[in-house]
Amino acid sequence: MSELDLRTLSFTDGRTLPVGTFYCIGRNYTEHIREMGATMPENPIVFIKPPAAYLPSGSKVELPAFSQEIHHEAEIIAVIGRDCARLSPEEAAGVIAGYAVGLDLTARDVQKRAKERGEPWATSKSFRGSAPMSPIVPTDFFGTKEPHLTFTLYINGEQRQFGDSRKMERGFAELISYLSDIFDLRAGDCIFTGTPSGVARVTSGDTARLILHDCTELNVIFY
Ligand code: MG
Repeated sequence: MSELDLRTLSFTDGRTLPVGTFYCIGRNYTEHIREMGATMPENPIVFIKPPAAYLPSGSKVELPAFSQEIHHEAEIIAVIGRDCARLSPEEAAGVIAGYAVGLDLTARDVQKRAKERGEPWATSKSFRGSAPMSPIVPTDFFGTKEPHLTFTLYINGEQRQFGDSRKMERGFAELISYLSDIFDLRAGDCIFTGTPSGVARVTSGDTARLILHDCTELNVIFY
């Protein structure tokens, strides 16, 4: 296998973009909020992973030694196609270059301690290899700016999570509009839009296959 490119996002039609910042949304599916014993936030919960957290499909994902409880969170990713700021939801729909799926890998034990102490989530969410993602399907493929997407995560061939974009509390354009009021977004930035229920631990030797139905998929192995 050729060496994996860690700095470039690939589209299924061969286009590329440099890897940008990962803006991740917390608590965007009611059933996941319930399983975490959390409540619906008034504003979206936002945290960031750096570009170096990215891994392409086909990667081996190192489980960090500082955690005993790395959880998978399967999510749809909207990829920003051009630099932008302060967009209305209508405008925000127009800057989405494509959609992918990825894992918001989370050191749940470290995150729990951070929550108890009121500390930031950076170490629990943004560690090396914490953002593996599939090739990106161009927006044109769907023929609509807010497509209906479903995705399934299999661990060692067994279904663990199923998601449906219609069950998101906030849609793609609404999230991007919100983020663009706060941050200057750049081409290659990736919006992780939250996970449905079914999050659980992965261990060394596990394989993950995350499918965005009829479009693209992510395959990784943990070690
Ligand atoms: Mg998440």
